[in-house]
Amino acid sequence: MTVHPTEGYDDLRAGVAAVCAGFPGSYWRDLDARRAYPEEFVSALMREGWLAAMIPEEYGGSGLKLTAAAVILEEIHRQGCNAAACHAQMYTMGTVLRHGSEAQKQKYLPEIAAGRLRLQAFGVTEPTSGTDTLSLQTIARRDGDSYVINGQKIWTSRAEHSDLMVLLARTTPRDEVASRTEGLSVFLVDLRGLVGKSITIRPIRTMMNHATTEVFFENVRIPADALVGEEGKGFRYILSGMNAERILIAAECIGDAKWFVDKGAAYARERQVFGTPIGKNQGVQFPLARAYAHMMAAEAIVYRAAGLYDAGHNPGVEANAAKMLAADASWEAAEACLQTHGGFGFAEEYDVERKFREARLYQVAPISTNMILCYIAEQVLGLPKSYGRA
Ligand SMILES: Cc1cc2nc3c(=O)[nH]c(=O)nc-3n(C[C@H](O)[C@H](O)[C@H](O)COP(=O)(O)OP(=O)(O)OC[C@H]3O[C@@H](n4cnc5c(N)ncnc54)[C@H](O)[C@@H]3O)c2cc1C
Repeated sequence: MTVHPTEGYDDLRAGVAAVCAGFPGSYWRDLDARRAYPEEFVSALMREGWLAAMIPEEYGGSGLKLTAAAVILEEIHRQGCNAAACHAQMYTMGTVLRHGSEAQKQKYLPEIAAGRLRLQAFGVTEPTSGTDTLSLQTIARRDGDSYVINGQKIWTSRAEHSDLMVLLARTTPRDEVASRTEGLSVFLVDLRGLVGKSITIRPIRTMMNHATTEVFFENVRIPADALVGEEGKGFRYILSGMNAERILIAAECIGDAKWFVDKGAAYARERQVFGTPIGKNQGVQFPLARAYAHMMAAEAIVYRAAGLYDAGHNPGVEANAAKMLAADASWEAAEACLQTHGGFGFAEEYDVERKFREARLYQVAPISTNMILCYIAEQVLGLPKSYGRA
């Protein structure tokens, strides 16, 4: 019987924690103030091979499964660091591994595994379509041995810091396909040589330090062999990758929740008010204890979803539930931690306000809580679909 959902991963955790130890709160505070990318942190993770965890050994990676990748990302967050600067390399990997050609794998994976190439950008969301992915308007038109791409993506995180982008675009106009889910294709776009020419990247400044951007494609010509899998089947490929993404982000939320509870409890033990530690008051203890209990429940579902994924299932319900529960648990823990710190929770030097801002994102991205509830209502409860077109 497994006693803990991530039993057996202690060495992995210790290895990740050792890298994170070189990047304390002061490192992240400085970047946050400058809205700068954590270049040294990402390079260190790549150098140590942590971002190549899911690349099969035959291409130079560690050949680990999603559960291990989830533990790596969870531990990064538990240590107070932020994997948002590089987590896409884990979750976009599944799309390439499952649907990419042997030639694509040979060309890119060894370079990624060696830390010489970055696959950090994932271009799905568009300004006009938002959550309604099937309405996206970026077009890739076949022209001889090439595709020519025109359109715009938004919230394409890390595009400025990535060599490659997994891109979802329409290859057959919507009025020419029987179902809206058809006619979309995935491309592995090599950004090098295109950015600053036919691709324009504009950073978006957000409430936290998150290198996100909008990306404009103007007659971008890419080789036809950049197509991943079959033309027109891209939506299905992206959907299967999204379960991995939800599980991995959920694991980060679990790491955040643990960080907030630890930080809050440590402060509650030390801070003396009215001549006694504030943690002696149940009004201070209970929010932290409740947040911890909710984190444990979410953690169990996150690793159950990861285990199902690793066993070859397509755990849509578990992945969605895990994402929602873990994001809620981290947000509850963030609130409890900030409240425990009183006024000092707002002071930058405690790192709580920064992590608080960072944790808020996961109520919205990569999928908002409402859409998860819609999915469960429809798929599990058999209720009528509440959104979408006929
Ligand atoms: C910092 C950041 C980084 C991101 N990184 C990436 C990235 O790297 N790649 C990428 O492709 N995308 C990325 N995203 C986009 C993210 O996935 C979307 O923001 C998210 O999916 C929500 O889409 P939207 O912002 O267009 O909201 P909208 O679709 O405009 O929705 C707005 C609100 O309305 C609600 N809503 C909409 N329709 C319904 C409905 N039918 N029922 C109930 N509620 C509904 C939503 O839940 C949401 O709260 C990022 C976003 C952010 C903020």
